[in-house]
Amino acid sequence: MRKLSRGDRLVLASHNKGKLREIAELLAPFGISVVSAGELGFEEPEETEDSFAGNARIKAHFAAKAAGLPALSDDSGLSVDALDGAPGVYTADWAETPNGRDFPMAMEKVWTLLEEKQAPEPRTGRFNCTLCLAWPDGHDEIFAGTVEGRLVWPMRGDKGFGFDPMFLPEGEIETFGEMDPAKKHGMSHRAVAFAKLVRDCLG
Ligand code: IMP
Repeated sequence: MRKLSRGDRLVLASHNKGKLREIAELLAPFGISVVSAGELGFEEPEETEDSFAGNARIKAHFAAKAAGLPALSDDSGLSVDALDGAPGVYTADWAETPNGRDFPMAMEKVWTLLEEKQAPEPRTGRFNCTLCLAWPDGHDEIFAGTVEGRLVWPMRGDKGFGFDPMFLPEGEIETFGEMDPAKKHGMSHRAVAFAKLVRDCLG
């Protein structure tokens, strides 16, 4: 298992502001200096795989090769049981509009489909996160995490990002959209995957 050390530079291979903020906050205690792919002027590679790990690999290897530095990517999404796992790896696509991403619209689409199917309550699902840490020589490490929960309507809270306002984690009374960010960082799919990365590559 290859490690990162205090003082190393790392590219965050994402253009998603919500993810960048959360990953930078998770990395802050480890003394790694981070720069985002956007700050380096990199384009976003096309995500052509049908798995979180496949797309995480595309993003991390693209940024690592372009920068000549290790790069960390995050591929994530929401899987809803009553929708056979959709939107899954296509979560971001469900929010696409000609004028950029519209998450309230995407959440409404998920809820409307559940209503049309008369899906029984609780409407369970999970967030998945796969992190890929890649080096310019082609080596990589993969870490996955999930958080179980159920979908609620109407959406609640203006913290977090993406589908957070409709996701109520198991055993909680606040959606990720209502939750204090520090609490989300302690339990989210990203936090679970990140803890594995810390154990293996930052310890
Ligand atoms: P991708 O990994 O860039 O394909 O996009 C994943 C999408 O999943 C994001 O655009 C969000 O909509 C959603 N997502 C991933 N993680 C979270 C989260 O922590 N909260 C809310 N939505 C998330």
